[in-house]
Amino acid sequence: MTDATVVGSGPNGLAAAVTLARAGLDVTLLERNDTLGGGARTLELTLPGFRHDLGAAVHPMGLASPFFRAFGLADRVRFVVPEISYTHPLGDGRAGVAYRDLDRTAEELGPDGRAWRALFRPLVAHVNGLTDFTASQLLRLPRDPVTAIRFGLRVLEQGSLAHDVRFSGEVAGAMLAGVMAHSIGRMPSLTSAGAGLVLATHAHARGWPIPLGGTQAIIDAMRDDFLAHGGRIETGVDVTDSRVVSGRARLFDVSAGALARIAEAELPVRYARALRRFRYGNGIAKVDFALSGPVPWINEETRRSGTVHLGGTATSIRRAEDDVARGVIPEVPYVLVSQPTVLDPSRAPEGKHVLWAYVHVPGGSGFDPTDQVIRSIEAEAPGFRDLILATRAITSSDLPSWSPNFVGGDISAGALSMLQMVKRPVLSPTPWRTPTPGVYLASSSTPPATGVHGLSGFYAARTALRDVFSLATPPLGVDG
Ligand SMILES: Cc1cc2nc3c(=O)[nH]c(=O)nc-3n(C[C@H](O)[C@H](O)[C@H](O)COP(=O)(O)OP(=O)(O)OC[C@H]3O[C@@H](n4cnc5c(N)ncnc54)[C@H](O)[C@@H]3O)c2cc1C
Repeated sequence: MTDATVVGSGPNGLAAAVTLARAGLDVTLLERNDTLGGGARTLELTLPGFRHDLGAAVHPMGLASPFFRAFGLADRVRFVVPEISYTHPLGDGRAGVAYRDLDRTAEELGPDGRAWRALFRPLVAHVNGLTDFTASQLLRLPRDPVTAIRFGLRVLEQGSLAHDVRFSGEVAGAMLAGVMAHSIGRMPSLTSAGAGLVLATHAHARGWPIPLGGTQAIIDAMRDDFLAHGGRIETGVDVTDSRVVSGRARLFDVSAGALARIAEAELPVRYARALRRFRYGNGIAKVDFALSGPVPWINEETRRSGTVHLGGTATSIRRAEDDVARGVIPEVPYVLVSQPTVLDPSRAPEGKHVLWAYVHVPGGSGFDPTDQVIRSIEAEAPGFRDLILATRAITSSDLPSWSPNFVGGDISAGALSMLQMVKRPVLSPTPWRTPTPGVYLASSSTPPATGVHGLSGFYAARTALRDVFSLATPPLGVDG
């Protein structure tokens, strides 16, 4: 008899399943797709031998997440930690370069170098304190209050009209806008500033690692551990009614709105209403490329960078984000490019490359980004177009076919507004627990929101172990 069932095998569902199975429970994992991993899969999307990350490509939290640290992910998956975390080309071969080395980054920023160093030095030096503060709920006493206050002050500065007082040149501001735009939404805002500062701090602290073989390697490591601890997996099972799910504990790696539908018969009306009121953000439209060679970026450092931000100056990126927030497709988009094969050639036939890029679009849009992305890359890398062997685009409206958690193309399973960072999806010290005994929400509709960190699933499982089974969190490491 199953003690617990986890619905959904994204990184959060698998983290929950591993935690429960390691506590000695009999656990079943149900997944609607034929393959495990949700937004963290790697598949041959274009041509045979070209392995593309469907979603997550770069893993600032892969080494920093408290769950992955306890799980010993770095001992189970081989990561490449690049010397350059990201670049931001600005035309004519100019680019901002975020080296892992903070000092080198600052030196290349010339007169703005001092300000860049002053912004990040205290956060990089206390990255564990920063991670402790941001990797759970914000409504909690931080273990390192000084770092939390320093972070908070920087968020206030960069998230307000004071955001452009720090830098005099174009490059540093564009670099910062490029990382802040990851959160999708109007800028400046407190959430884009918070997300950007965390990502940029990791860029100079532990780096932005990518797993050899693709993000699937992270999923496979969790799957193997789950199976080794007696877990059972059933794929091709789309759960539409929570009452058919067995077990004293039932954990759902689904969006907040989906839980309201699936568990409608079991959830108190007020709570279900709160889930339905949870808002989704705007979306992304993505295109995957199979390439006959490396991208001929004019800027030399960009040829070695796994992640590239395009979209011009900070003003231009803010304009693009503003357009999306108003429901308009920007003329000059912000483009996030991942070119993993410059660091990990194993993902494509010899000499060939894979690359993905996405733009932000109004939620649910049917916009195909292929032409726009090609134009943006071609402007910084003339000749890119001639390398294309195959493309495959997915619109924002189709993204839920990869994972229904990406509602309308929102890759965070819920808008990253300041309100929804604290009320995710409800205001509670344990937002993973629902009022229905034994039912838990384990997806990135709960803190700490988006990203491959496994923490939403881990916190949900930890709460279920305590509530339902009176069990402590088990050791998760390789020797555990
Ligand atoms: C294009 C793109 C790029 C991204 N880039 C990055 C990145 O570089 N780094 C990063 O950290 N993050 C990135 N992300 C975000 C990251 O992928 C997500 O934050 C992460 O996958 C969320 O994990 P999850 O387990 O909460 O949900 P998901 O990964 O969405 O997994 C949910 C799983 O549950 C299954 N499921 C849902 N409902 C049901 C049901 N009713 N019955 C059965 N199964 C169900 C789904 O099929 C899916 O497999 C990106 C996402 C996308 C789409």
